[in-house]
Amino acid sequence: MLPSPPPSPLRLEAKLIKRNDHTMRLTDLTPNTQKVLRTLVEHDYQAYAVGGCVRDRLMGITPKDFDVVTNATPEQIKACFRNCRLIGRRFRLAHITFGREIIEVATFRGHHGEDNKESMAKQSQDGQLIRDNIFGSIEEDAARRDFTFNAMYFDATDESILDFADGMKAISTRQVEMIGDVETRFREDPVRMIRAVRFAVKLNMRIPEDMQTLIKTHAHLLGNIPPARLFEEVSKLLLSGKGLATLKLLQEFKLFKVLFPALEGMLNDPKGKEQQLIELMLKNTDSRIAQEMRITPAFLYATVLWYPMEERAEQLVFDTQISPHDAFNIASSEVIHRQVQRIMLPKRFSIPVREIWALQSRLSKRFGKRPYQLLTHPRFRAAYDFLLLRGQVEGGALLELADWWTEFQKVPQDAKANMMRELIKRGGGPRRHKKRKPKQ
Ligand code: ATP
Ligand code: MG
Repeated sequence: MLPSPPPSPLRLEAKLIKRNDHTMRLTDLTPNTQKVLRTLVEHDYQAYAVGGCVRDRLMGITPKDFDVVTNATPEQIKACFRNCRLIGRRFRLAHITFGREIIEVATFRGHHGEDNKESMAKQSQDGQLIRDNIFGSIEEDAARRDFTFNAMYFDATDESILDFADGMKAISTRQVEMIGDVETRFREDPVRMIRAVRFAVKLNMRIPEDMQTLIKTHAHLLGNIPPARLFEEVSKLLLSGKGLATLKLLQEFKLFKVLFPALEGMLNDPKGKEQQLIELMLKNTDSRIAQEMRITPAFLYATVLWYPMEERAEQLVFDTQISPHDAFNIASSEVIHRQVQRIMLPKRFSIPVREIWALQSRLSKRFGKRPYQLLTHPRFRAAYDFLLLRGQVEGGALLELADWWTEFQKVPQDAKANMMRELIKRGGGPRRHKKRKPKQ
């Protein structure tokens, strides 16, 4: 998680929920999380499991990751563990590594008030924040969190929970409730608007009417968020198994077009091909996740940005008479370049987006050895899956082409050769220029 800006000071008091009054137990934490908590407590520090893992567990969902908070500073945390690394330049966190499992341990964060100059952030000469560790009390830490169900702290020593903002009520009434004034907290950090949508869908909760209205009127503020912060949040939004439902809510709240400005004006028709392609991709992604199949953000971005890219390429051909091939390349670069100014897509994903796109035209050139070579291309599978989606949306020749590839992959070698011969018979091969006889 990347850090959010500081919140307005809020005073919170914890409600203590004893072990017999809730269902979470120490054994709900991974053994390594338990070990980290135990070690910190043995060194006389306070230590709690907090946030998503407590909330999810109380709602009967198996938590994915376990965050630990403590009053020990990063250096003090490091001194307690051999397998500990401090990460983050602006916000220092400790990562305790156990093989493949990493437990993130953060120090309670406090407010940056004007009255707090002593501990204000360190700045580099050019003004960039290099250290922004304003440590605080557990109450201050709770007040910085976003929703009431995210400010519950599980105490491993007696299995009690400290509930600072009545998160339990939000869970029982199934309402997404903000800590503090909703508008102020959205203004402080507009990412909370997409987090509200994410939790509403993930936890099957309602967003209260006033929060809904505020999201609609403040959606544009998301455009001010540094692109690097959005990649992970957007991946969690759309690639967590409930992408289709999330898309619908994002669109209802006018957030989707802020995240993907290239689609502005393209999604007005709910039956339009642009809307359909995105919905179909998310439906597929959701079912792949349900079957524990691999998914990649590259496929998401390739799909969402396909029609804007295609439209731009067509416009370039029309305006400048360059070849469709060159137009396609230029449009691909332009559309990706513009998108990464809103959501920073790491190169390891943007390169495959371009490959998936470039393979679309190669999949239609079925002659000679090409189809056989394409089958071994590392991005073939993703490109074929994408062609299949386009075929389902557009039908016609595209669907025929997609079906041909489905068949071509399935059949044995000799049948593949037959399929190729069949294509040539139907005139599907390359257009060969007749060799002119040299004039005598
Ligand atoms: P999940 O694991 O499903 O993503 P989570 O609640 O753990 O849910 P994270 O993004 O991992 O979500 O954040 C961990 C905790 O940090 C949250 O529970 C919340 O308390 C706090 N947090 C995260 N992002 C923000 C934010 N933008 N504003 C305030 N608090 C935040
Ligand atoms: Mg989490």
